[in-house]
This record gives sequence, structure tokens and C-alpha cells, in this order.
Amino acid sequence: MKRVYMMILVLIAIGCQNSPAKKDKPDVVILATGGTIAGAAASGTQSAYTSGAVTIDAMLKAVPGIEKLANIKGEQISNVGSQDMSFDIMLKVAKRCNQLLSGSNVDGIVITHGTDTMEETAYFLNLTVKSDKPVVMVGSMRPSTAVSADGPLNLYNAVAVAADPKAKGRGVLVVMNDQIHAAHSLTKTSTTSVQTFMSPLRGVVGVTAYGKDDWYNNPPWTHTSKSEFDISNVTKLPRVDIIFADADMEPDLIDASVKAGAKGIVIAGVGNGNMNKVSVDAAAAAVKQGVVVVRSSRVATGMVDRNVEVDDDKLGFIASDELNPQKSRILLSLALLKGDKPAQIQELFRTY
Ligand code: ASP
Repeated sequence: MKRVYMMILVLIAIGCQNSPAKKDKPDVVILATGGTIAGAAASGTQSAYTSGAVTIDAMLKAVPGIEKLANIKGEQISNVGSQDMSFDIMLKVAKRCNQLLSGSNVDGIVITHGTDTMEETAYFLNLTVKSDKPVVMVGSMRPSTAVSADGPLNLYNAVAVAADPKAKGRGVLVVMNDQIHAAHSLTKTSTTSVQTFMSPLRGVVGVTAYGKDDWYNNPPWTHTSKSEFDISNVTKLPRVDIIFADADMEPDLIDASVKAGAKGIVIAGVGNGNMNKVSVDAAAAAVKQGVVVVRSSRVATGMVDRNVEVDDDKLGFIASDELNPQKSRILLSLALLKGDKPAQIQELFRTY
């Protein structure tokens, strides 16, 4: 009997040793890529500045109290204005996120990024990060040297969201100006205002103020740990071009894209993904040559549905559903790694 008690005590002791010690604070890694949040100007009131001029360590020093939210480590991935964001850098960020989040010593990631192409990178990571842990992107509209710079509070709020267990399982989030947006739905709507990001069709998934978060509903799209896209061995994405439609559009832009080797074309169509008759004919000819054509819209809100004013069934086109042209390009680039059958790609546009 005594031996049995002894064994139980030994097993309890081993169990205690193996169970992780309770952490005082969550562990958050900040991956810095550049943008206005890391931008600097010669004076606090001038509009001209250089993006991606300040390092992550300098940015953290400008945020008093941030160290109370989490144990923070910073890594510089790149330091570019996001107009220079490339698929190479996106792949690097996605692979680093997957590496960091697979370990038990990282609870969440914050990515600092320029606002110009934040929606593209957010959506790319939404499809390629394989974890339910929070991944939160953040930027600013005013450089770090500006009067009333918005970067420090945005960064504080982003770390608070990444450290919040309620942010788990919501896909990649973007925190700016006290709002929390889902990667699928947000888009940049103002060239200069600090209230630039909106999610016109789905609304925000939450709000945050001085590190205190309030959560609403999530949009229904599949993402992150449930995504079927795997970029672990991918080094290059197929060429996909976006062609902007307008009144009296020239169809030979579509022909030029095919000649340049595009595997996919996204039309930023007028209205419900429309284009003039000559361009529909050029796009149909592109499909016949094996190029995948997606009809999206240049309009800021609303969905593009199949077979409304264009016979997608007959012509072999894909309708972008709720994705704007820039996010359609991301999804189509990843989809083409898996195959080019229009019916399957249409299904991906309904799912992601
Ligand atoms: N051009 C800048 C960038 O996207 C603008 C910004 O960050 O707000 O990097």
C-alpha cells in the first residue's frame, strides 16, 4: 500500500515538472516590415516623409507602458514603404509566422506594415498562416515624427489584441484607429485620414481602446489553420495581372497581359464586374488560351455574382464574390499553385 502511495506522489511530482509554468504575461513577437509607422520627416508638420526609416526598437521606445501588456521581442523582416511590398517579403513573413507560432513560447504576433498594401498582406497571411493564435497587423497614417503621430497608440492596441485570448481563431486582424478588422473584409478608403480602413460589407470584428478590447461577430470565411494553402515550399507565385475597366476601355491590355505570360487576369470591372463588349471578347479569348479570368469590381462595396450581365458559364469566367481586385489577385495567385480548373477556382472564391 505504502509503495502505491509513493508511486502516486512520484507521478504527481513528474506531472508538475512537465506542465508549463504559468506565465506572468503573454509572449508577443513583433515583425517589422516598414511603412509610415516607421516613417520619419524633417519636421513634425510637413507632409513629405520617408517610409520605413525607423527600426522596431525605436518604435517600441515611443510607446510607454507597452511592456506591461506582454513580453515583447522585435524582429526586423524588411524596412520598406508598402508600395514596395513584394510576394518575396510576404512569403518570408508567412514562413516566419508559421515557424514562431508552432512553438509554445509565442502566444501572438504583431506585424508592423505600411497601409498602402496592408490589405493584400493581411489577406495573404490569412490564407497561409497555419495557426489559430492571434496575428495582428498594424500601421499608421502619420510618420513617427509628426505632430499627433497615430503609430504609438495603434502599436499599443495591436499588442493588446495579440495578447488577448479572445483574438484567437479569428484569422489575421488589422488594428488601426481603435478598430479591429478582419483580413477578408477591410480596405483602405482614404489616402490621408487616420480613419482610413473600413470593412464596408461586413463591419468591424471589434474595437479597442487603450488596450481594452470589445469583440463582435466574425465574417464566415475560411482562414489560417483551416486554410488548404501551403506555402512551406513555395518560392515564387504565378503571374496574375489586374486590368482596370472604364468607359471605352481598350481590350488590347488583356491581350498584352496574355502575351507577357500571365496565368491569371483579374478585371477591376465597372459595376457588377462588367467590361465593354470588346473586352469581354478579349477576356474570352484569353480563357481559350488557358488563362484564368476573374471578374471583380472597381466599386468600393458590394459583391460580384456569376451570370448577372455576363454569361460566366458560357465564357468560363470566375466571379470574385466579395473580394476586391487586389485580394482577388492574391487568392488567384495561390489558387493557381493548385490547378487552373475554373469550377474549382470559383469554389475557392466562395470559401475564402
Ligand atoms: N506609403 C506608406 C506605406 O504604405 C503609407 C502608409 O504606411 O501609411 O508604406
